[in-house]
Amino acid sequence: MKAAIIAVGDEVLLGETVNTNASYLSRMLDEQGIEVAYHKTVGDVEQAICDAIGEACSKADIIVCSGGLGPTMDDMTKQAVANALGLKLVYDAALEEEMAARFRARNASFTPNNLSQCYLPEGSEALKNRNGTAPGVYLEHGRKTIIMLPGPPRELNPMFEEFALPKIKSKAHKASAVKYYMASGIGESYLESLLREAIPPNDEYYHVNTYLTDSGIMVKAVAFDSSERSAAESISFYDDAVKEAIGSHLYSERKIDLWDVAAGMLIEQDLSISFAESYTGGMLSEQICRKEGISAVFKGSVVAYSNEAKINLLGVPKEIIEEHGAVSAQAAVAMAEGAARIFNSDIAISTTGVAGPGPSEGKSPGTCYSAMFFRGNTVCEENLLVGARNTMRARGATNALFSLFSALKFRNEENK
Ligand code: ATP
Repeated sequence: MKAAIIAVGDEVLLGETVNTNASYLSRMLDEQGIEVAYHKTVGDVEQAICDAIGEACSKADIIVCSGGLGPTMDDMTKQAVANALGLKLVYDAALEEEMAARFRARNASFTPNNLSQCYLPEGSEALKNRNGTAPGVYLEHGRKTIIMLPGPPRELNPMFEEFALPKIKSKAHKASAVKYYMASGIGESYLESLLREAIPPNDEYYHVNTYLTDSGIMVKAVAFDSSERSAAESISFYDDAVKEAIGSHLYSERKIDLWDVAAGMLIEQDLSISFAESYTGGMLSEQICRKEGISAVFKGSVVAYSNEAKINLLGVPKEIIEEHGAVSAQAAVAMAEGAARIFNSDIAISTTGVAGPGPSEGKSPGTCYSAMFFRGNTVCEENLLVGARNTMRARGATNALFSLFSALKFRNEENK
């Protein structure tokens, strides 16, 4: 079973709106074992929408359109679908009554252009919009299923899950199960090659895919079968192999950000923390502060970007900077120990590096050090990051969080 996703709207076509509907719908369809054949974006041009529907009908079984269902002149998805399939638009009195009641309840006037929303291609069914006015449309036409959804994600997502998904579930594999594995500190292509070795590639009822996230890589395993129980059994069957492939890079077996896990462990283990940040410029502090209840353990940070700040605020010896440079393991260690002293924290993490684009102190962009003071011991890691300036800064912060996670996990296991 194949699907095509068509986004309608000039703002999507011209890049003003990022097409998050396509990624959301792809994920949802993939979880049902429906192969997403392609995405297409067309502007608010009736003929373009009509052509896209015609093409999709020749290549896919399920066609999901987003956008262009509203009451304004540029909303023409239903008309274009009707034209493409040779159907008439028919008036639905119940829809008008429902819509008029909504307007009355909000004390808003039901202008004539809203009437266009009461017309559907013949043979279709309206999908309720709990978060807006434009109803969605579900249409089975011959062997094709066409679903039209409103553009705003807050309307599209609940409508799809509540009304469209149950209908297409029965067309896809009967049941599915999903498991997420969250990894960090490893490259996506390398992890993917490990997974390909661990999982037989030709099992059509089970597959794993990798996705880049802000925390690293999300591995999504999806299994299909005749019942939910047997799909869940497939997930369990491959579980050890997936975890073995990810190895020590696995930080969670559910969909969660790294900062959330690391901050949660700090709170749980009652360990206080502080940061001394140079090239990450506060990114570590920002991430850790996202966690509710972090005030119990987060003491504070020094963003020490200049050499003076490193020397005067963190007490990094001037000689270290003169001899080894501000981007050096020695400076990173002194920064972490300085933060631990100032804030009297159990753990202190420092970051210093060349964010680029040019080199600094004769060191190439991406050269970075992160030291971790942990109750009297300090260790330092050196890394060579790649990417644009702010990508490297974000990766540096994520790597430091992953080191924190690894240290807390190790301590937890030691204490067991
Ligand atoms: P309504 O008229 O109720 O707003 P609609 O179905 O006519 O809904 P559009 O007018 O096409 O939808 O889009 C409305 C808004 O929805 C856009 O301004 C945009 O913010 C958002 N949107 C549209 N398409 C997408 C998309 N593919 N991904 C993410 N957001 C989108």
